[in-house]
Amino acid sequence: MKILVAVKRVLDYNIKARVKADGSGVDLANQKLSMNPFDEIACEEAVRLREAGVATEVIAVSCGVAGCHETLRSAMAIGADRGVLVETDAVLEPLAVAKLMQHVALKEGVQVAIFGKQAIDDDAGQTGQMFGALMGWSQATFASSVKIEGDAATISREIDGGLETLRMKLPVVITTDLRLNEPRFITLPNIMKAKKKPLEVIKASELGLDVEPRTAVLRVEEPAGRKAGIKVADVTELVKRLKEEAKVI
Ligand code: AMP
Repeated sequence: MKILVAVKRVLDYNIKARVKADGSGVDLANQKLSMNPFDEIACEEAVRLREAGVATEVIAVSCGVAGCHETLRSAMAIGADRGVLVETDAVLEPLAVAKLMQHVALKEGVQVAIFGKQAIDDDAGQTGQMFGALMGWSQATFASSVKIEGDAATISREIDGGLETLRMKLPVVITTDLRLNEPRFITLPNIMKAKKKPLEVIKASELGLDVEPRTAVLRVEEPAGRKAGIKVADVTELVKRLKEEAKVI
């Protein structure tokens, strides 16, 4: 059984995002770009499934500019067997990524696809679900534990007030929550090994898919700066201040 893992290249989570001077978007020039943290979790889970003998091959897939090959190499250093870059310079919305992923999933005949629950740049939280809809597959979002036995998957997900456990037939798309696993440390020997693993490049423009954006970004602005806080002597003063602020006195 093959597993597809979707890995997106985003602004590193340690870097403070800067808005471009013309307000057209976030400035990515000369910034550190890394794998979306939820996708590292997705990759780790897929590799663990292969190590446990549940899967035979893990294919990491990234859609975007040529630089995404670095993200694919990181996925291969975690343990993915090979990478596929669906290359395009165009702006990709979740539906467009879902269509490109569908193309790869059908071509490769995968039974399980693992996506992050959200990409930390656009925070859409949609791509895995749209992929599931296009494929007509079962879906388990925000997974905090994954078990696959035979042709069925058992997935726990954190919901308000507890855990929900779902059982479903493969094929399935899973999106990862933060507590699913802790991705392994990438070692130098594994980085070296990853350099030798196969990386296929597919030109998105040659697939004949409609990946045109459906929305336009009008303007991106920095959030307003936080006001300085104050120190209060005790709870009585705190309550008094809060009431004053809420103008209930
Ligand atoms: P989003 O719906 O944009 O929040 O993204 C959810 C998940 O979809 C991400 O965590 C990735 O696993 C996957 N994804 C989104 N965009 C891309 C992309 N350009 N390339 C690869 N995977 C992506």
